[in-house]
Amino acid sequence: MNNRKRTENNREWRFATKAIHTGQAADPHTGATIPPVYLSTTYTQESPGVHKGYEYSRSQNPTRRALETCLSDLEGGEACAAFASGLAATNALLQSLRPGDGLIAGHDLYGGTVRLLERVFQPWGVDVVRAGSADPASYKEAIRSLKTPRMVWIETPTNPLLDLIDIRAVAELTRHHGMALVVDNTFASPCLQNPLNLGADFVLHSTTKYLGGHSDVIGGALIAREAAHLEPIQFVQNAAGAVPGSLDCYLVLRGLKTLEIRMQRHGSNALALAEMFCERPEVAHVYYPGLTRHPGHDIARKQMRGFGGMISIELEGGFEKARSFCSRLKVFSLAESLGGVESLVSHPATMTHASLSGDQRRDLGITDGLVRLSVGIEDVEDLLEDIDQAL
Ligand SMILES: *Cc1c(COP(=O)(O)O)cnc(C)c1O
Repeated sequence: MNNRKRTENNREWRFATKAIHTGQAADPHTGATIPPVYLSTTYTQESPGVHKGYEYSRSQNPTRRALETCLSDLEGGEACAAFASGLAATNALLQSLRPGDGLIAGHDLYGGTVRLLERVFQPWGVDVVRAGSADPASYKEAIRSLKTPRMVWIETPTNPLLDLIDIRAVAELTRHHGMALVVDNTFASPCLQNPLNLGADFVLHSTTKYLGGHSDVIGGALIAREAAHLEPIQFVQNAAGAVPGSLDCYLVLRGLKTLEIRMQRHGSNALALAEMFCERPEVAHVYYPGLTRHPGHDIARKQMRGFGGMISIELEGGFEKARSFCSRLKVFSLAESLGGVESLVSHPATMTHASLSGDQRRDLGITDGLVRLSVGIEDVEDLLEDIDQAL
């Protein structure tokens, strides 16, 4: 019992220790050091209503519980609900709004989030207004235009332009107006940024990305600063049922164990590549918050513990140059998604942001020469050589 207490949960632990141990005590029946994957859909009761806290796996599952406990602790929250995908988590949180409620959406958000807002929740009656830029002043202005301000939804760093939004400054605004602040923390991961400590109310993750970390599982999670605020979302989690399977929860738990060392390597590789791009005449612009000349660098230093593994570059020569660069890369795979151990390259104008009109893309700064890199944890020399030959 003593041993179990030691390995269950400890608020004093540092990040990497929590990521390996929190919620994952040795199995009390067998001593298995890694908690078993609970595939059972149902749980045998001693007599009607007398059980060990588990009845049916949509409602509660021990593997999912372990993941939720660990993620909640890593973000410094009180409670977590895991979902079958990042967008399922987004959907569950948006369902806490009612027709007539107002939501401010960040200027540069994941395309799937925008699609859900514009094609499902706006027609359903949620009043959605986009902020004009990363500047907190544009949030102030947007809030004024809402009749019933309820929620602000941001990502930082943003996708694909890696703008930084000052979480503390936006949190002050939302607190003042009695709104909830949601931060999609997928790009930074809890290793580099903890929005709840900066005043956010909810953190959203696509665990598909850095948390799973190996491009082999789809999942999502919501973490709340206050447990009571997660209750309506836990109700939706069970009532609507977009829960992750236990094997998927296990894969994310396994990914979490190496999150810190992976993020360190993603960050050092990305910085080396960003510095190389700055030297190259073929590259018109480099977007990476770790560069001192990045406009969000000071905010990144203030609210992050590292700058992450995502870089975007604008190539001289537009679409033709971007196409030949993407096709010539050998170590980087041309693919959507991000956050895995392997390096990926994508072309936002024809891939992730293809559903936007040319004008919308131009307004956002997503040109035909823009290329986004998810820098993996391969040997940095191989990545540098690959980029050199592709340029
Ligand atoms: C991928 C992603 C999502 C959506 O997550 P899924 O797991 O694909 O549903 C949301 N936000 C960001 C920033 C993402 O990169």
